[in-house]
Amino acid sequence: MPSQAKTYYIHTFGCQSNKSDSERIAGDYEARGFAEAKDWRVCDELVVNTCAVRQRAEDRAKGFLHNVAVYFHEHGQRRPKIILTGCMTHHGHDKLYEMLPIVDEILPINEVGFNQAAVRKDEYHAWLPISTGCNSFCTYCIVPYSRGREASRSFESIMTEVDDLVKRGYREITLLGMNVNSWGLEKVGIGFRKLMLENKNFTREDLPDNQTQYLSPTGTPPFVKLIQAISAYPEITKLRFLTSNPWDFHDELIEEIANNPKIDRYIHLPIQSGSNEVLYRMNRGYTRESYVELVKKLRAAAPDIVIGTDIIVGFPGETEAEFEETVSLAKDINWKVAFVAIYSPRPGTASWRIYPDEIPHSVKKQRWEVLDQIINKDQLADRPVIV
Ligand code: SF4
Repeated sequence: MPSQAKTYYIHTFGCQSNKSDSERIAGDYEARGFAEAKDWRVCDELVVNTCAVRQRAEDRAKGFLHNVAVYFHEHGQRRPKIILTGCMTHHGHDKLYEMLPIVDEILPINEVGFNQAAVRKDEYHAWLPISTGCNSFCTYCIVPYSRGREASRSFESIMTEVDDLVKRGYREITLLGMNVNSWGLEKVGIGFRKLMLENKNFTREDLPDNQTQYLSPTGTPPFVKLIQAISAYPEITKLRFLTSNPWDFHDELIEEIANNPKIDRYIHLPIQSGSNEVLYRMNRGYTRESYVELVKKLRAAAPDIVIGTDIIVGFPGETEAEFEETVSLAKDINWKVAFVAIYSPRPGTASWRIYPDEIPHSVKKQRWEVLDQIINKDQLADRPVIV
């Protein structure tokens, strides 16, 4: 009797990049002769792909692993090998094994290679990672520590995969990257990591001038050339990209969006706060004014686009007046949708180190409700767009 293939199951938390990574982890398993199990209760190896963007995301992964432990204990069943990967790996092996003793192995996130064939569930639309990591060091964000420095996948490697996708019948592609539109530029980030390494006691006064670290490229930005090359396939009907940052949203990209009907009309453009003071403390590389200018240019060039955003409420020191600046910007810009998050300090980040998290949760929650109501529930579509 032929021996049965060993099985794997992947449980994924978090963002689209994690889901895309999981497709490639699945590809690695299948290349090694494993078959996918339908349920984690009956697999030989269980991969838990974690998210660390907020404490709640980490708590969910811990809760899931707790349920796994309880289930196998109660059923007296041999449990699968448990492998942890994703953004929680930034805690380091020692801490993770101590925190989650059920984990047998930790897979560093950078071992999920670009070139590993993905096992895709969808047959029409494909997620395609084009870069990984981040050099921007927004003070609240764990990504530069969990996913490491920004690295762009090569043009040749991306196009080989696009070619293969087209031949297999895929018609829609979403390009993925933490700063997707910075692809090919590899920012010389004046990073907080450098500051933290050189001066462990750095204070707010040591922060870099956050308007000088993002230099414009000369000529057509690489990301625009990539979009043009992919759009040149007649079979490709729709192209999306996530997540764009405002600082590498060059005029050539705006022009491409205006002239290329294959590019989806929804553009996601995180603002995080409408207050320049808060943006400075977050180390975002733009101001309220430059963001508004960008939205104006986009809408002038491509009047049919809709714009969505991400906002964090309750960032350390956010005063009522600073919060009101975000509210007024929401009314002026009329985003189609906003993913509003309540600030939660992530150990290891710069904001966790230098800004006390003093705003009561009740205030953060109330600010969350105000913005969620205005942007996501009040249907601002009828309100005149000021910007
Ligand atoms: S740009 Fe900022 S928020 Fe986005 S991944 Fe990089 S550090 Fe995090």
